[in-house]
Amino acid sequence: MNFQLDEDLLLLQRTIREFIKNEVEPLAMQIEEEDKIPSTIIHQSKELGLFGLSIPEEYGGLGIGMVGKCALYEEVGKTHNGYTTLIGAHTGIGTVGIVEMGNEFQKNNYLPDMAKGERIGAFALTEPDAGSHASNLKTTAVRKGNKYILNGTKHYITNATVADVFTVMAVTDPSKGPKGITSFIVEKDFPGFKVGTIENKMGLRGSHSAELIFEDCEVPVENVLGVEGQGYVNALKILANGRAGLAARNLGSSQKLLDMSMSYALEREQFHVPIFEHQAVAHMLSEMAVEIEALRSFTYRIAWMVDEGKNVIKEAAMLKLYGSEVYNRVADKAVQVHGGIGYIKDFPIERYFRDARITRIYEGTSEIQKNIIAAQLRKEYQ
Ligand SMILES: Cc1cc2nc3c(=O)[nH]c(=O)nc-3n(C[C@H](O)[C@H](O)[C@H](O)COP(=O)(O)OP(=O)(O)OC[C@H]3O[C@@H](n4cnc5c(N)ncnc54)[C@H](O)[C@@H]3O)c2cc1C
Repeated sequence: MNFQLDEDLLLLQRTIREFIKNEVEPLAMQIEEEDKIPSTIIHQSKELGLFGLSIPEEYGGLGIGMVGKCALYEEVGKTHNGYTTLIGAHTGIGTVGIVEMGNEFQKNNYLPDMAKGERIGAFALTEPDAGSHASNLKTTAVRKGNKYILNGTKHYITNATVADVFTVMAVTDPSKGPKGITSFIVEKDFPGFKVGTIENKMGLRGSHSAELIFEDCEVPVENVLGVEGQGYVNALKILANGRAGLAARNLGSSQKLLDMSMSYALEREQFHVPIFEHQAVAHMLSEMAVEIEALRSFTYRIAWMVDEGKNVIKEAAMLKLYGSEVYNRVADKAVQVHGGIGYIKDFPIERYFRDARITRIYEGTSEIQKNIIAAQLRKEYQ
């Protein structure tokens, strides 16, 4: 196994580390208060090529493998998770469908603009009756001549308010269950498409999740993504592909929490000594460090397996589960190490605590990851 980055990637990793630390982090509190990512940061992210993280070089992207992507995601994870989610949803679930399943016309039509961040991507699977039971879709797509007519509602869709291009799953043949689902590329200006209610969330401020409403929405037949009837399989592949990247973002956030907690523990005095000198506090920090190191090894091992073309269905689910749970445990300990100030909004710790919570829910809950792992185990042992 080789996790070593080449010189170009090491340079890019350093550049992104500096950008996150010097440009994004100072604006984190502003993002939280205004619930908006400043356009300066978006502009700089475009310049750095971050929007093209998952896109091959021939379409204007960075053209890097999963190990390289994770190294960059780890850096991106070290700041406000609203910003991290906007980038992650675009470069992960928002782009990967077109990269993996798109035909040459679709790739040429969308990817160069998406790589530059001139068109933002989103992924729309979830509906009110189709959460964990993701194949239970009610949105329909009926072919009429050279168009499909979509009707239905999606909800909780990340990037809905800023996205230009949506990967949308809809039912083309209700008699076939999951095999009757097809994926489509829907542009925000297609007739009959609109963004509905924007959710008021616990955290991830600056990243907006909203309803998508399709009312006789007209989608040209050339915008079918992949093969008709393969939409559910496509959705699962897109989600599986994103799992190492999400774990790497969780790793970055967890590392940032350890860094802040160590600084605080070495500085804050109680009983006339830094609180780090109290073994109970030092042990919390040791436990955080162990879990982070384990997550780091796990993330890059799975990323390497992806680059080697290995089947990672079970391992990617394990990583999604473990990365989210580690981030939550680390965030909980970080609040504890900080005491009262960990609960106060003037300081970033409570924000990470709230933002960590979603990672156990979106892109498949922790329980659903356990179901995937169990199904694979059954196949291996039966
Ligand atoms: C902020 C945010 C952003 C999101 N972004 C997107 C996006 O960009 N695109 C998108 O398509 N979706 C998105 N989602 C949707 C997200 O993926 C779903 O919320 C998630 O999959 C869970 O579905 P649900 O909310 O309907 O919960 P439910 O499926 O109703 O689950 C409720 C509880 O029951 C458990 N449960 C359900 N079924 C089982 C089972 N078979 N075994 C064990 N436990 C089970 C769940 O684990 C959970 O604990 C987002 C959600 C949020 C909150």
